[in-house]
Amino acid sequence: MIPHSFDYAAATSFADALEQVAAGAKPLSGGMSLIPMMKLRLAAPERVVDLGRIQGLNYIHQDQAGIHVGALATHFEVETSALLRAGCPLLSETAGWIGDVQIRNRGTIGGSVAHADPSADYPAALVALDARIVVASKRGGERTVGANDFFVDALTTAAEPDELVKEIIVPVETMGTSYQKLLQPASGFAIVGVAARIGQDGHGRLGVTGLGARPILITDATDLAALNTTEANSDIHAASAYRREMAKVYARRAIAAARARA
Ligand SMILES: Cc1cc2nc3c(=O)[nH]c(=O)nc-3n(C[C@H](O)[C@H](O)[C@H](O)COP(=O)(O)OP(=O)(O)OC[C@H]3O[C@@H](n4cnc5c(N)ncnc54)[C@H](O)[C@@H]3O)c2cc1C
Repeated sequence: MIPHSFDYAAATSFADALEQVAAGAKPLSGGMSLIPMMKLRLAAPERVVDLGRIQGLNYIHQDQAGIHVGALATHFEVETSALLRAGCPLLSETAGWIGDVQIRNRGTIGGSVAHADPSADYPAALVALDARIVVASKRGGERTVGANDFFVDALTTAAEPDELVKEIIVPVETMGTSYQKLLQPASGFAIVGVAARIGQDGHGRLGVTGLGARPILITDATDLAALNTTEANSDIHAASAYRREMAKVYARRAIAAARARA
């Protein structure tokens, strides 16, 4: 399939990208979700601004606020970062589950959280981690949104069209963590995926992807009732009843694995 014709410009800096987005351009990062949507004509932007050549926006560094991951960090960079593996292993582990090696080499964390696919992996980890997402615009400067408020609905976030995801801030981990995923074998997307952060006493938080339109946060891992009552997705890959059952199975697995690491 061939997309509608569009104008293309490569941003020279983050400020330039904000300028272009404010003027109506659609941001392009790894292109692993936007390009397929354009080819399927589910998206038809008239102008695209490529963020991919902005130098340095793939940083991963730590300060007293936590570990900062720049929007252009690829899934591979998140997966293999020594800092994240030591300080926030849940995020690295989750990145390693995304798609295949080509997708992980091109796709970015900023593009994934902005896209907010109901079957994406990062949202489960980010709500479990109580991560913060920093968005920026020419109009309003920077603001920080908690992950559980950021993911609003399927393909819908709290970011405005003129805002760009700038970075994701995750805490330095003090608990045991694990991401467990039942994947759709052709694409690798999650039928369900569960991110767990659990202490030695078995208490902790879960983030669940694939089950609903947006990630589900469970703040008491000893009570999985929310997985029964929630309105579960149903599609050609899995019926809602199956997704609900699998969410419970994978939640128990994630809790056990995380507790063993606590
Ligand atoms: C075959 C295949 C398998 C996949 N499997 C998985 C999987 O198992 N798990 C998973 O989670 N994902 C999977 N993906 C999706 C993949 O992770 C994408 O990389 C990700 O969803 C989008 O990241 P991107 O950098 O490619 O963004 P793009 O495709 O460039 O952009 C995606 C959307 O975000 C917007 N955007 C991009 N960057 C920003 C920014 N900084 N600020 C604001 N808006 C922005 C774009 O305008 C667009 O709407 C798969 C994709 C494919 C094609």
